[in-house]
Order: sequence, then C-alpha cells, then structure tokens
Amino acid sequence: MKVLVLNCGSSSIKYQLIDMETNEVQAKGTVERIGESEGKLKHKTAKGEKVLHEVFATHSDGLKRAFELLCDNDPIKDLCEISAVGHRVVYGGEALTKTCLITPAVLKTIHDAEPLAPLHIPAHVLGIKVVQDLLPGVPQVAVFDTAFHQTMPEHAYLYALPYELYTEDHIRRYGFHGTSHQYVAKRLAELMGKPVESLNIITCHLGNGSSITAIEGGKSIDTSMGLTPLEGLCMGTRCGDLDPAVLTFLGKSKGWDLQKLDDICNKKSGLLGLSNISNDCRVLEDLVLAEGNADALRAMSVFNYRILKYIGSYATVLGHVDAIVFTAGIGENSPYVRKEVCSKLQLLGVEIDEIANDVHGKERRISTDASAVEVWVIPTNEELAIAQQTYALVKSL
Ligand code: AMP
Repeated sequence: MKVLVLNCGSSSIKYQLIDMETNEVQAKGTVERIGESEGKLKHKTAKGEKVLHEVFATHSDGLKRAFELLCDNDPIKDLCEISAVGHRVVYGGEALTKTCLITPAVLKTIHDAEPLAPLHIPAHVLGIKVVQDLLPGVPQVAVFDTAFHQTMPEHAYLYALPYELYTEDHIRRYGFHGTSHQYVAKRLAELMGKPVESLNIITCHLGNGSSITAIEGGKSIDTSMGLTPLEGLCMGTRCGDLDPAVLTFLGKSKGWDLQKLDDICNKKSGLLGLSNISNDCRVLEDLVLAEGNADALRAMSVFNYRILKYIGSYATVLGHVDAIVFTAGIGENSPYVRKEVCSKLQLLGVEIDEIANDVHGKERRISTDASAVEVWVIPTNEELAIAQQTYALVKSL
C-alpha cells in the first residue's frame, strides 16, 4: 500500500509517496511559488532529481504536474496505485481532536476554522478538493498539528482572559507541531525499550518554528505554542512570549496598525530581529563560535535561555522527568545549542557526554550513564508519522 502525504501551504505544496510495507520514501517533492510569474517544482526519486521551472497558476496546476511526474514510471505508473492520501492540517481546534477520514462534514469543520489559521486553512481545503477531483474515491485523511495537544488540562490551555472569550470565541491555547512531538516521544519509548505510557518526557522541537512539550505518560499536558504558533520560544523570525502591552504601546507610540504589528512579531523578530543578521541558527552559531560576534551571541543567548526556562518549568509541571528529546533542524543538528541548554540543567541532574553530543541528524542518546535524566537526539519525521496514521486509519475502515 502506498500513501501520498501532502502538506499544502499558502503558495507551496510538499509531497511524499511512502510505501507502507517498508516505510520507504519512493518520491518526494515540492511545488513552490504557486500563483507567481514563475513557479518551481522539484521532484526526487531513487533515480534522481528533476527540477521544473513553470507557471503554476493554482494549487490544482501544481498538483497535476506533480502527479504527472509521479506516474512517469518513477515510482508508479498510474495514480490508482495510491491507496490513500494523508494531509497535514495545521489546525483542528476542539472539534477535530484526532486523525480522521475527510468526509464532507470534516471538510466543512476544517474550512470553518479559517479565521484562526487564515494562512494555512484555505490552502489545506484547496489541496483536499484538488485530490477529490484528481483521485476520486481515494480515501483522504487529515492529521492535525493541534490534535496531540488536546489532552492539555484546562489550567494549561486557558488564557487568563474573560472566560467568555474562550466559550464564545474559542480563544485558548491549542499548541502546534503535535505530530512531531508525538512521533519523537513514541520513538524515544521504542529506543528506551519502555512503554510510552510509563514515561515523562520533555520534547524540544527546535527549527525555524520552535516549541517544547511536556508529555506525561504519552499525553501532552502543556506546550509552548498557543492560539497560534507565535507563543513561546524565540524562533527564527517570531518573537514568542511577549507582554501584550508591548503591542498596545507600539500601536499608540508609533501609530502601527494591527497588520504592521503582526508582521513585526511573526516575520521580523526572533533570531533575525535580535541579531539583525539572519534567522538561520547555523549562520549565527558559526559567527558565535568563530569570532564571538556580539550580535549573533545576543540572539542565541535569548534563544537558549527561553529553551532552558521552558524545560525548567515543564520539569516542575511533570514532577519527574525521564528524558529530554531534541528534534527538528536545530535540535537535531546543533551540539552548541544542546550543550548551552543542558549544561545549565544541573538541578535536574542532567549530564551531557560531549563526544556523544557531536551528532547531526541521527538518533543518539547524548547523556552520560550517570545523568539523572536521559537526553536524546531523535530526528523528527512528520511525513512518516502522517503516512502511518493515515495507513492505520484506512486499514481499520
Ligand atoms: P527546520 O525548520 O526544522 O527545517 O529547521 C531549520 C533551522 O535548523 C534553521 O535555523 C537552520 O539554521 C537550523 N539548522 C540546520 N542545520 C543546522 C546546523 N548544522 N547547526 C545549527 N543549526 C542548523
């Protein structure tokens, strides 16, 4: 059985075709700059990579072209070889709390959530409709970034705002990156040879977008992102936690409107805003390590400090921590960030093995035998997780 995983963004589509018997990625690609004067499609299989520069006026055009490449005998001959399609859906809210088959009612619920995820939901809906047209009858499954965090207790998900803003307007913390946090927690349990239900874990998904989750017995009980992926850690271009009064102050003192404030917080802050150099952790890390560059160091210090603060507070929330996991671009590839954070976790009895910590993008325990908490690097694989959940659901039908 082959599952196609789709991640439809506002102007791009990422796809992977995965063979569920072997978990092998048979093809993967991206369609970028949909709706622009020139688009780009990259398609990669075991036989090589193709790069097309063409106009993709709509998501439908992009997907049609990707399907043509998929069916060019590499890796399949016909679309009927695709048994199911799994969609990454960024927001499921309180209505869609589990991976589910996309029925007309589910599609409507996804669509109705547009005000809370205005950039992503229209693209997800378009992607689902295009697949309905191109692959009629093939089951489509939605896997939600927010679903894993629906086990958060009320005291963790409520903002201390007037309660009716929650009951009437659904303003609460939802959390994101759920598929990734869940995947690495499960994988950690396999690597430790213990049931995930027996473990308390803090998972650190550190990439261009970053979040940390407290997982108790396999369930998310708190996470750093909130109503949107803006809350929490310092990120590539996002500010993370912020006194909301900063926004009203700037609105009044500079006359900035909501759009401008949104832009500052989402696109001009974080590592980029603090350093004035780059949002790319690798660039900043190199500058810090090579020459102690003060601008890069300022940004990385805020980044590392926030991670430390969240781990400390989640350790208290969990009461006991069995393991800390680092994942995503930075978590998997930055011995510097991991060391900066872990060397300050003496209170938890964390001890890092410097040699083991010199790992990039591979599963490895990086704590010493004497460490009171195991620390692991586990590469995330959201596409495989989506494919596995899609496969499990479709098989059970
Ligand atoms: P992601 O959003 O998960 O793709 O992660 C992107 C982030 O990972 C960027 O900030 C990259 O700079 C960072 N990254 C990738 N490789 C490295 C590396 N070797 N060292 C430090 N950061 C890295």
